[in-house]
Amino acid sequence: MSNIYPDKLQFHIDGEWIDIGDRDVHHVVNPATGEVISDLPKASKADLDRALDAADKAFPIWRDTPVAERAAILHKAADLMRERASNIGQLMTAEQGKPLAQATGEVGASAAQFDIMAEEAKRCYGRVLVRPAGQNSFVKYQPVGPVAAFSPWNFPVFTPIRKLAPAIAAGCSIILKPAEETPASAIEMIRCLLDAGLPSGVAQIVFGDPAEVSSHLIASPVIRKVSFTGSVPVGKHLMKLAAEGMKRTTMELGGHAPVLVFDDCDMEKTLDLVVTGKFRNAGQVCVSPTRFYVQSGIYDRFEKAFTERASKVVVGDGFADGIEMGPLANPRRPSSVGDMIADAKSKGAEVKLGGHRQDKDGFFFDPTVLSHVPLDANIMNDEPFGPVAVMRPFDTLDDAIEQANRLPLGLAAYAFTSNLHTANMVGDKIEAGMVAINNLTVSPGDAPFGGVKESGHGSEDGPDGLKAYMVTKAIHQA
Ligand code: NAD
Repeated sequence: MSNIYPDKLQFHIDGEWIDIGDRDVHHVVNPATGEVISDLPKASKADLDRALDAADKAFPIWRDTPVAERAAILHKAADLMRERASNIGQLMTAEQGKPLAQATGEVGASAAQFDIMAEEAKRCYGRVLVRPAGQNSFVKYQPVGPVAAFSPWNFPVFTPIRKLAPAIAAGCSIILKPAEETPASAIEMIRCLLDAGLPSGVAQIVFGDPAEVSSHLIASPVIRKVSFTGSVPVGKHLMKLAAEGMKRTTMELGGHAPVLVFDDCDMEKTLDLVVTGKFRNAGQVCVSPTRFYVQSGIYDRFEKAFTERASKVVVGDGFADGIEMGPLANPRRPSSVGDMIADAKSKGAEVKLGGHRQDKDGFFFDPTVLSHVPLDANIMNDEPFGPVAVMRPFDTLDDAIEQANRLPLGLAAYAFTSNLHTANMVGDKIEAGMVAINNLTVSPGDAPFGGVKESGHGSEDGPDGLKAYMVTKAIHQA
């Protein structure tokens, strides 16, 4: 494990880096060893009030800063992130566990978000309506105001940057509370913005008790928009808090992605993609391919070949060479995933591979394949958020679509087929925010990313992601 991780961390408000001092502390743990590697200060209510005041003061100044200047700062921050990707990637692997190449890759993809939003903001055109000579009516997009954003631990830089980049590009100020489990890489992302010249108060980062921080920030009249990525129950709770002040929300919540594998797919290509995709970030991905519905004609062959490949996934400390899957990110995950597997087994699922927490330090779990999983097993209904593929056979296209749509969730969905009609029907009929056919790419950065049903509302990324931080105004001149 890298020794670059600082043993004391700071948060940033009102232009100042804040030390622990007499504040409460959160202990950051390396999930590959279970050891405490750093201490993180928790913001007090007075700290949060100072951050709110700074965001309130920074907003009108930043809103009125020309878009070209805002964009130049974002491009510079993107360049700094790319220069520092190796360092930030190491911090991420130490605090989150994912293999170093995946962590460094995440930093690069995140830097691109600053670039994309810098350019989107320059082209956020309104429109002029048709009126008689001498009259004008036009529509403008204006920044919504100070934002409170909450992001999780599975993608410690990519999830917060999806909120930071559009908010800053749009002209908003933002207070970000990333997950306490994975603070250092998010802190370095803020440092890139500050080093690129972002004025103080525009982007601040705090940590604390999540429920206390969110209720305090959302209740403040300063905050005009709330953005959250995380679980469905917490999303519902934050929406209720936001409703008190009629605040706009973007909710990127859980998924339970179906993967429809049809008899006519290219089996080798499909397996190459889905086995790698399933175990990326140890399955702790809201769009992870999880419910494998495989057509009866190829079910047995597919299940066997998937299991064989999954058995070769190399699990270990994300800093070691050749590692394909690291530990789960925190001690809650192995017990939650283990409970779901035990429940499925007791209801008749066949364990084809794995199924256990590994017998070593840290939070390592076996790559796991469950077959013929009954629909009443918890794992068919609640997102496992771990390295588990669950499989069931289906017969017809209608049957597959019905199975895919049976949950109240709808984030990502995947299908593998060489039949154009099947592809068209799946694309149209699946209830999901993103459908990928013959590939797993649902997050290219320039396309809308977000769910339907209980997976949330509002899109991140691309022009839709920028508009989420703007209000629409009509101006009429007679
Ligand atoms: P959780 O629901 O306790 O927390 C999820 C995230 O929300 C964490 O980052 C946490 O810090 C934050 N959070 C929790 N309560 C909050 C509050 N009152 N105000 C603001 N933020 C709050 O769950 P967990 O144990 O961290 O993860 C469990 C489940 O959450 C997973 O199984 C998965 O379904 C879901 N999850 C989804 C995503 C995603 O990308 N959509 C990411 C992480 C977790």
